[in-house]
Amino acid sequence: MSGNIEQLAKLVIDSSGIVVLTGAGISTESGISDFRSPGGVWDRYDPDELNFQSFLSSEESRRTYWKFHREFYLPMKQSEPNDAHYALVELERMGKLNCIITQNVDNLHQRAGSNPEKIIELHGTACKVRCLECGANFERDEIEKRLDKGEEVPRCTLCHGLLKPATVSFGQAMPEKETRESFEMARACDLFLVLGSSLVVHPAAYLPVEAMNSGARLAIINLTSTPYDSYADVVIHAKCGDAMKKLTGLLKRKSNNSH
Ligand code: ZN
Repeated sequence: MSGNIEQLAKLVIDSSGIVVLTGAGISTESGISDFRSPGGVWDRYDPDELNFQSFLSSEESRRTYWKFHREFYLPMKQSEPNDAHYALVELERMGKLNCIITQNVDNLHQRAGSNPEKIIELHGTACKVRCLECGANFERDEIEKRLDKGEEVPRCTLCHGLLKPATVSFGQAMPEKETRESFEMARACDLFLVLGSSLVVHPAAYLPVEAMNSGARLAIINLTSTPYDSYADVVIHAKCGDAMKKLTGLLKRKSNNSH
């Protein structure tokens, strides 16, 4: 890994604008379960019942959805950012980071201290709840209090419309603004860094291609291989936290030596 970290450090030093894409891998290192991995919440729920169409059409599905989503949200709130999240805060301080595009909904980048204005939540956030009727946003914790008191399917206090966590469900359209911005940022960077994503979920998986086609370098840090490994300038198969901590350590040493 260390040789590759050295190469990645060089790419970072040469870069004037990095875009980072973070996926489930960075969150699992904080103890948040990946929906798609064995032992995840999916094992106890029928994915068909949790898709967006079911949510819209059946009160029973909505009840199941909220129960499922609480099983994800409550432990998520207890989790803490890890070395990878903090390393991205460092990159931002170094003036290298254009933005973080995340597939995660757990708010850990914000909690680590990354500038919220530089974070694009491609799959929404579990920390907000949205009314599907009037579009009003509510704090998730506010709605959780109502669920604690026994409500099973909360409704909007303004218009009585359906409330849903502000995450993108299966079968639900990707947020237009966030998707557009992600592609714009990918086209404008000179280094695209993938952290903890297997690059199999679209449209996120197209982002590295978009960046490369616009002349950016590509670096990938992921535990397992991805379909884009062979196109990348640097590939590191390791935990994001370990690799990113080594990277920022190396960058600081190089910066101190050059002063
Ligand atoms: Zn409403």
